[in-house]
Amino acid sequence: MDTEQLWILRVIGEAEPKHYVEWACEQLCAGVDSPSLRILAGLNPKTDTKEMETFFLRTCSELKLDQLIEEASPMVMAQSIWNAFESGALTAKEAISRLAKVLIVGDFSELNVFSSMHDELSEAERNGYYYPPEYLEDLDSAFRLEWTLFLRAQKLKLPTDFLGFHQCASCGHFDEALILDSAIELLGMEFCRGVYKYCMACGSGVLNKMIIPKVRDAYFTKLEKEQLRDEQFARDI
Ligand SMILES: [Zn+2]
Repeated sequence: MDTEQLWILRVIGEAEPKHYVEWACEQLCAGVDSPSLRILAGLNPKTDTKEMETFFLRTCSELKLDQLIEEASPMVMAQSIWNAFESGALTAKEAISRLAKVLIVGDFSELNVFSSMHDELSEAERNGYYYPPEYLEDLDSAFRLEWTLFLRAQKLKLPTDFLGFHQCASCGHFDEALILDSAIELLGMEFCRGVYKYCMACGSGVLNKMIIPKVRDAYFTKLEKEQLRDEQFARDI
């Protein structure tokens, strides 16, 4: 139980009394010392979390571990979870389930593919309702791939709800502009999404969902090129 792990568990509300004791013992073994740390290490793991937290906060102020008390931003949390996976402290499955919980606020909720992965992993029978199951067979690779897509997504101006888009299997067109504003006004967004079945560029009915990593990779590549071109254009004027 290293410091970063305990920090993540506390922020997502999964820290159990035994985690505090384990952490305190490891700190003492590593030569760290303070009066409250000694008490924490000696507490019965059956003590309730509230009492653990009291001694934990005292320990932090004695040791000046401000990082452990501050509220972390979701991105800092996400990065810590990734680091924990990289160092072998968390499995891909554990890291995915923690990211799914951490990234539910603000702009991140639109990018939270980890939540779809987590939902698919929780299904007894994986039928691809949440996430393409064939990618989950090698979970470490899938997680690494999703992490790089997540980092790329941070840098892009993505339309809200882009995860509901499709890419045409025949011509590669993305359906980002398929629904006319006037039609949405008239019929409502849900209805428009429900009736749309064909590629507006070529008429093909074979469409791939944005939740497929390969489709998002292609979409992000397209947006990255457009964004770069816009930036260059802005610099030239
Ligand atoms: Zn098409």
